Amino acid sequence: MEPNRVLFLAVAFLTHAFVGYALVRGFTDADPRLGIVFGLLPDGDFLFPVVWEWPFVHRGITHTPLFALTVVGSAYALSSRSRESAAAVGLAIGSHLAIDSLSPRGIDWLFPIETTWSPGLPVHSPITTGLLWAVSITILVSQSTDPRSNE
Ligand SMILES: [Zn+2]
Repeated sequence: MEPNRVLFLAVAFLTHAFVGYALVRGFTDADPRLGIVFGLLPDGDFLFPVVWEWPFVHRGITHTPLFALTVVGSAYALSSRSRESAAAVGLAIGSHLAIDSLSPRGIDWLFPIETTWSPGLPVHSPITTGLLWAVSITILVSQSTDPRSNE
């Protein structure tokens, strides 16, 4: 793999993990590490063997609302019906899908129907990455200065 591609993917993974962490830490009382794990989960599809075909490809089934709902439902069931954990998982995986859905490749919103529409925004460009990090840092800073967090 080319060094530029490795760097691109590393920054994209870090961004998904950081956005998930910030959202879970900022808006739930769940363990913020859930945000890292589930913010990255959809890109686990990079581990699919190359010979597999759609929907078991990058930006296939793991990047669909149906998959996200299944994961959130499973998290809810496996966490003894903890709404906090389910909300954390939903925020993290939802942020990943929201970011990727805006990219030129988009996601299959209507899976199992294949769709190709996307606004085509450069969501992993340096500027957009900077914006996502700035928003995430703002969430973390405002959360740490929130008087409720001193309880
Ligand atoms: Zn992705």
